[in-house]
Amino acid sequence: MEKIQSIVNEIYEIFKDYNVSKSEIEKRLKLLVFEFKVPEDEAKRTIINGLRRDLNLSREALRFPLTKIADLEPGKGVSVKAKVIQLWEPTSQSIAQWGVIGDETGTARFVIWAKSAKRKVEEGKNYIFERVFVDEFGGIKSIKVTSISEVREIEEDIEVSENWGEIEITGALVSISQNSGLVQVCKICGKVIEAGICKEHGKVEWNEVLRLRGVIDDGERTYDVEMEENCIKELTGLDLRTAKKMAFEHLDRGIVLLELKKKLLGRYLKISGDLKFRTINVKKAEFFKTKVIEEVDKVLEEVKAL
Ligand SMILES: [Zn+2]
Repeated sequence: MEKIQSIVNEIYEIFKDYNVSKSEIEKRLKLLVFEFKVPEDEAKRTIINGLRRDLNLSREALRFPLTKIADLEPGKGVSVKAKVIQLWEPTSQSIAQWGVIGDETGTARFVIWAKSAKRKVEEGKNYIFERVFVDEFGGIKSIKVTSISEVREIEEDIEVSENWGEIEITGALVSISQNSGLVQVCKICGKVIEAGICKEHGKVEWNEVLRLRGVIDDGERTYDVEMEENCIKELTGLDLRTAKKMAFEHLDRGIVLLELKKKLLGRYLKISGDLKFRTINVKKAEFFKTKVIEEVDKVLEEVKAL
């Protein structure tokens, strides 16, 4: 009986993502072994082939089993059903597309090699990535789409786990993007508009906001950061009202961006917030002072007091 159970488990492992129950496998196995006296190993092969036929799976498909993102193991060949969440600019000519995919268990990166000559995937659409290989870099898993892979769009709308988590880092604000400062954003999508026109929504109603988009470098890697009015005020004292006044007085909203750059660019910040892919939505920000700087400040204060 122990042997029977272990064969059942073995077969179950192969088909577990295809809604096959252990009891169903056990029933078939017992029938073959006890009623028809088929040797165990042959019975096992018969059941696997039978299930494969029933489920309309190729031999190939079984070598690349359908796998949830949370269960991806580096070095393995798998198939993954996932939604394309984000596409990134290719950083090399050998990459056709790359970005982030997700399913209800988590997220992973994906890379489609240029040589694989696949049709382009689109953000927000759902696909099955068949016969792909799992890789890991810096603790982040990714799947590689090669020429033996197949990428097909599917009807199913895959729900993506929103489990990102908080992060706190200290690093230098190494760049501030041009769409920071006092900007007008589309009321629908929140993206910066130009002359009242949103790239996505055309002529729209807009809000005027004070915000910062930039890059922070903690010495190990870089993160995109998004900072809204409250954090900017904490750091610089500048709020939406004073920013508007400033722009009005100079007849130029660009003055606000200049001010942000003057006060924040190159400065060390301690920030915390929600990490989504590589972007931190900053909830709290303060200037980071090393012990030495704190000492110097104290001395300066004392000198001033004299
Ligand atoms: Zn818009």
